[in-house]
Amino acid sequence: SATGGALRLSAVHKRFGEHTAIDRVDLDIRAGEFLSLLGPSGCGKTTLLRMIGGFEDPTSGAIALDGEDLTGLPPFRRPVNTVFQSYALFPHYTVAENVAYGLKRAKVPRRDLAPRVAEALDLVQMRRFADRKPDMLSGGQQQRVALARALVNRPRVLLLDEPMSALDRKLREEMQLELIRLHTDLGLTFVFVTHDQEEALAMSDRIVVMSEGRIQQVGSAEEVYGSPANAFVAGFIGKQNFVDAEVVEADADGLLLRGPRCDLRATAAGFTAGTQVRAAIRPESMGIRPAAEGAPGGVNAVAGRVVGESFLGDVVQYLVRAADGHELLSRVRTSTAPDVHEGDDVVLTWEAAAVQVFSHE
Ligand code: ADP
Ligand code: MG
Repeated sequence: SATGGALRLSAVHKRFGEHTAIDRVDLDIRAGEFLSLLGPSGCGKTTLLRMIGGFEDPTSGAIALDGEDLTGLPPFRRPVNTVFQSYALFPHYTVAENVAYGLKRAKVPRRDLAPRVAEALDLVQMRRFADRKPDMLSGGQQQRVALARALVNRPRVLLLDEPMSALDRKLREEMQLELIRLHTDLGLTFVFVTHDQEEALAMSDRIVVMSEGRIQQVGSAEEVYGSPANAFVAGFIGKQNFVDAEVVEADADGLLLRGPRCDLRATAAGFTAGTQVRAAIRPESMGIRPAAEGAPGGVNAVAGRVVGESFLGDVVQYLVRAADGHELLSRVRTSTAPDVHEGDDVVLTWEAAAVQVFSHE
């Protein structure tokens, strides 16, 4: 069976007229890894994927697969297949004919067609639908056929461009598990595009966070969530409380920051006094307690009123409005949630180690 290929993108640049869609991107994708491209709409995810697939040529730069330059190779000559956002199935063909199409195009011998199609349909548990037309299938089933069609050629890299965006939440979660299983079973390299950070965190070996045609960070889910490289990543992955502040002290113990509502202690290093910074504190690092219990000295503590309380199953989320109108989020485990509710005066507190500090861009 096929094994995953390693991709190397070197200074890949793409302009559409005056507009720079991809700005000199360098990226190594490891053989067999599940890599997600994550970023807001318009940041260049599809453009990058289309260049890997051969549907778009870079303006400059190079893409190599296992050391071999792909420049100039048309899509069907690359050992790379794509599952598109729209499944792009042929409506007049049966499921089996849709899956066989790429094999015929690659001039696979006739006698091999049926077993190869059956094998691909088995991978996605769609063999019993082989004789149906696409309009007799649900969205999730069409998605599976599109996957079988992309896998039947035994590519070394599978590109997936927001393949689940048309599915409802429940089906999407099922397909996520299915894709993880397929990836594990086949050992192919998967490059998966999504704008959904939860999906990227749940599925990937590594995540590439993109913004405006540039890579902001490459790392595991734990790395991009726990140690974001900049304020963009910190805000894009997961929920975040941001506080703009000025560094007033910087020493071996860390930083003292002056914010609009309170002073903050941070264990971060690498900033000098007088610098404007953006501090970030995750909601789950923000403790909450009734104001009556008192505030501990005004550092890493903000007083406010609960204006929203949401039960999210294993956690409870509180939206707290400070006196100046600024809103902050606190998330606590349901089992340890304090007795505070909408309308109550509260104090939010956090540890110095929970404060991430970024330069102000
Ligand atoms: P994403 O998939 O992250 O939403 P795209 O790669 O589709 O982003 O688009 C990146 C940028 O390039 C956008 O500003 C988009 O408008 C532009 N773009 C994409 N394709 C073309 C094209 N064929 N012609 C002109 N501009 C394009
Ligand atoms: Mg896109």
